[in-house]
Amino acid sequence: MEEEGTNSMTQTNSTIPSDFIREIIDEHLRTNRFQGRVATRFPPEPNGYLHIGHAKSVCLNFGIAVQYRGSCNLRLDDTDPTGESQEYVDSIVQDVKWLGFDWDDRLYYASDYYEQLYHYAVQLIKEGKAYVCSLSADEIREYRGTLTEPGKESPYRNRSIEENLDLFKRMRAGEFEEGTHVLRAKIDMASPNITMRDPVMYRIKRETHYRTGDEWCIYPMYDFAHCLSDSIEKITHSICTLEFENNRPLYDWFLDELKAEYHPQQIEFARLNLSYTVLSKRRLIELVERGYVTGWNDPRMPTIAGMRRRGYTPEAIRNFCARVGVAKKENLVDISLLEHCVREDLNERAPRVMGVLRPLRVVIDNYPEGKVEEFECSNHPQNPGMGSRKVSFSKVLYIEQDDFHQDPPKKYYRLGPGREVRLRYSYVIKCVNIIKDDRTGEVVELHCTYDPETQNAPPPDGRKVEGVIHWVSANHSVPAVVRLYDRLFGIPDPAAEGDEFTKYLNPRSLETLTSCRVESNLASAAPGSPVQFERVGYFCVDPVDSSTKALVFNRTATLRDSWARISDKERK
Ligand code: ATP
Ligand code: MG
Repeated sequence: MEEEGTNSMTQTNSTIPSDFIREIIDEHLRTNRFQGRVATRFPPEPNGYLHIGHAKSVCLNFGIAVQYRGSCNLRLDDTDPTGESQEYVDSIVQDVKWLGFDWDDRLYYASDYYEQLYHYAVQLIKEGKAYVCSLSADEIREYRGTLTEPGKESPYRNRSIEENLDLFKRMRAGEFEEGTHVLRAKIDMASPNITMRDPVMYRIKRETHYRTGDEWCIYPMYDFAHCLSDSIEKITHSICTLEFENNRPLYDWFLDELKAEYHPQQIEFARLNLSYTVLSKRRLIELVERGYVTGWNDPRMPTIAGMRRRGYTPEAIRNFCARVGVAKKENLVDISLLEHCVREDLNERAPRVMGVLRPLRVVIDNYPEGKVEEFECSNHPQNPGMGSRKVSFSKVLYIEQDDFHQDPPKKYYRLGPGREVRLRYSYVIKCVNIIKDDRTGEVVELHCTYDPETQNAPPPDGRKVEGVIHWVSANHSVPAVVRLYDRLFGIPDPAAEGDEFTKYLNPRSLETLTSCRVESNLASAAPGSPVQFERVGYFCVDPVDSSTKALVFNRTATLRDSWARISDKERK
């Protein structure tokens, strides 16, 4: 009945496995590259909610800071007004905290550096290392060349320093339309690394920024803003994902040319890809905006907010990130590892309770009308420290429809006509009569007898009763809505389907059951609290829609990996 066999992937939380990034840091400590300092940052752009991929980066950056007694800043990398908002900032702050990390008073915004960045740009212009280019975006792309062909120099590349200073100032002053001018670094149009072919540093954007309002109409590009933000904050190790590998020379170029006082080391690692889901903010926004899910915190979303609402714990997510580890090569991590981590954590944490999802009424014919007994039920059979509670038993009960079969197949040890089964913590009952709906033939009620000598004890005559099922008393249970969540996509790699990805949404990712009955102890369960409905799965009280008047439970995870079983069957 309880989860078993979770030791196969044992790795304690306290042992931090080393990885290539920690090896680099160890080396820097040995050679005193940063005077013994370790300072990292987590730099999300507030243009969406954080997802499980971000959690990997959060755990890595904050985890390193904790391990090396350094520091990790939370920096909102908000240099593009498009799509950024305070709502996203608030969600990011909440999610990183919830994951268990702390940045003390080091909450920073790249937008706070705008003035400083502008002056760095002016410095590069003055040194002849940046110029205002008036090609259109299409022309700039054309001039850039390809992997096999060198780029072409812009006709504006040799503008005088004075003209560049004047134009850049007027760009800032708002004299020009969007797209008419950009500021570019003067590097090398023939560089084999396309990133180095005079990259754009600033562009004009006439959009209101959620923090700086309309103060600015030019905004710095990522490559220019990021390295300088890191340097301003005296970051030692600027950890980012693999797609920025080609940008590292540019990261270093800006810092070198500006003779920045502090020159952090950029290190790239492989981003997390997870099966049966998508982890790109653009895709997630599409799911939200087109109504495929109910919001960023829909329990099917791979967002931290969605997983929290689904009942995932910070410990489970952190443990998952530790097991995934950090590598230099991308791969697709099986979502069943994440599900395994949450089961393993909830197995320890979640009190056991009884709830019937698809009720079948059972009347105990020989049980006295009006009698009520209270049975002591353990909250966690393996952990007596979690205590016990009383569950009421009476003449009319509900059991799971699934736990009765009119024509029981082989190896079915639950209830059938004339058969006996044990009610968990209670009596052995025997099915003596079946009431069916005249019209549909559906079984609507069972009549049973109970054996008074079997309360939590084996039958004294030694007869064997193999099956044990859960139940609730009709008068001592409360109604509940239960949402059975499943994987959001029906195929392992929806991200590989490009823009077609929504075609592969799992049509059964949510099943809502509205006539469930749960033991009355749950009537006052706190929002978000986890439970294991015995034999059914791990659930949590929905923090948004549940109230003491109308309970709503979200399924966090099944007791076992049902997908593995399905694919096992398919393989046979
Ligand atoms: P997305 O690709 O989802 O749009 P992003 O990289 O644009 O994400 P940012 O807000 O810029 O999102 O990310 C903040 C930090 O999180 C960055 O350092 C980024 O490298 C890291 N990050 C984002 N996605 C992942 C992922 N799937 N795995 C690991 N780290 C990630
Ligand atoms: Mg980004």
